[in-house]
Amino acid sequence: MTTTSRATTTPNLDSAIVQKLQESLRGDVVQPGHSEYDSARTIYNAMIDKRPAVIVRCAGVSDVIHAVNFARENDLILSIKGGGHNVSGSSLCDGGIVIDLSQMKSVRVDPKRQTARVEGGATWRDMDHATHAFGLATPAGIIGTTGVAGLTLGGGFGHLSRHYGLSCDNLLSADVVTADGRLVTASKDENPDLFWALRGGGGNFGVVTSFEFQLHPVDTVYGGPIFYPIEETEKLLRFYRDYMRQAPDEMSAFFSFHQGPPAPFIPEHLHFVPMVAIVTCYSGALEDGEEAIRPLRAAATPAVDLAGPIPYPALNGMFDDLFSPGLYHYWKADFVPELKDEAIAVHTEYGPQIPSLHSTMHLYPQTGAIQRVGKDESAYSYRDMEYVHNVVAVDMEEANMPRNMTWMREYWDALHPHSAAGTYVNFMMEDEGQDRVKATYRDNYDRLTQIKKTWDPDNLFKSNQNIRPKA
Ligand SMILES: Cc1cc2nc3c(=O)[nH]c(=O)nc-3n(C[C@H](O)[C@H](O)[C@H](O)COP(=O)(O)OP(=O)(O)OC[C@H]3O[C@@H](n4cnc5c(N)ncnc54)[C@H](O)[C@@H]3O)c2cc1C
Repeated sequence: MTTTSRATTTPNLDSAIVQKLQESLRGDVVQPGHSEYDSARTIYNAMIDKRPAVIVRCAGVSDVIHAVNFARENDLILSIKGGGHNVSGSSLCDGGIVIDLSQMKSVRVDPKRQTARVEGGATWRDMDHATHAFGLATPAGIIGTTGVAGLTLGGGFGHLSRHYGLSCDNLLSADVVTADGRLVTASKDENPDLFWALRGGGGNFGVVTSFEFQLHPVDTVYGGPIFYPIEETEKLLRFYRDYMRQAPDEMSAFFSFHQGPPAPFIPEHLHFVPMVAIVTCYSGALEDGEEAIRPLRAAATPAVDLAGPIPYPALNGMFDDLFSPGLYHYWKADFVPELKDEAIAVHTEYGPQIPSLHSTMHLYPQTGAIQRVGKDESAYSYRDMEYVHNVVAVDMEEANMPRNMTWMREYWDALHPHSAAGTYVNFMMEDEGQDRVKATYRDNYDRLTQIKKTWDPDNLFKSNQNIRPKA
């Protein structure tokens, strides 16, 4: 099995130099031997076991500047940890320096302008909590513990994206510490090339210390999962495809396979039983939600129907306990131009075979407001897709991963011929290769390499799905 455990050697960093770094910081430095070293190098995906030489737990922008300068001057590999959720493990590095932003989590909401300023280590749970007090939100991912930073920089979609676009479409500006240790602001008026690249180009261009987002009136929504018997898979997928093609933008629903979680709201006879789950969110007028979801309820008889009025942050945190940190993950995803009958046949074959409580397949809609931004208006190129499918092998026990990964690989191999060449950058694993990165950015790749050359000519920021500086 592939794990990301690598060499454990660390470069000979002169302790006096590290001491000097520590003295320049308000945050702290954690190195091997420190009592918190192991917890500081533990991230969401338990498959990742990397041993950085230095972890800088930054307390603010000036710490980030010192850490970037330190990495460059000492020729160290550098990685950036926002929420630490990326399953590829790119937020950590072996033998280098980690810029850990997990202590920079503040969110400041401006209710008048309906904007929020969020620090680079905040999670969507932090963000949702702060904005919900004002009946506001911006498109996020579907798990509250995911970092705002990594998700937004790679694009970012979730329950609100058909209505309000990708997370990166709602970015108004970003403060960025660049490879040469400067702090710059990127927006449509200031450093517009950098702003273009940040919206989908990942962590390639600098350390984003804060993001400014546009918010929208989102308070209590009508949504939640509806579970159906697995035997209804094919019928439901065909229905779901047609339903989503005519659904208003306010309606989001992703299709998935899950074993019934052993939770009090699931009848005991359905625990660990494979089911279809369609996870709904209607973010228009609350009184219209029931009617919008009615066709899904009528498409087949639900086994468990949990959809109803729910505060948006509660919907966004509903799966946090199921997908808690410390599970073993390996994912494979693709963009899907249109959901073809052939792909429905593949889902119908493999979906019912989900091998664990946590392994799953999610089919996320990419339509509505996402498609109203042009392919070249930001780095995020795949604006003409109907879905992203993501087949994930997840288990509590490492020993069970081979079984989960066999299912995942066979499933993905069968789906891939019905998909686009590129994939969603935030669902990529470390070993997918440079051609896959290029395929993901399509016609935007060349412009990204030029912008990379301007802002990071020596590729200091390369622990990511890397965009290489133009030669
Ligand atoms: C359980 C789970 C659910 C998910 N659900 C969704 C979903 O619904 N929608 C969706 O779009 N994605 C989803 N994702 C994927 C998610 O978008 C990525 O994992 C994303 O990278 C997480 O951001 P992070 O800040 O936690 O990442 P980290 O692991 O901290 O960082 C990943 C990379 O992002 C870059 N980065 C992070 N912070 C910064 C920063 N401040 N400045 C510059 N670069 C930075 C770096 O290159 C870093 O290597 C999910 C992931 C998980 C594990």
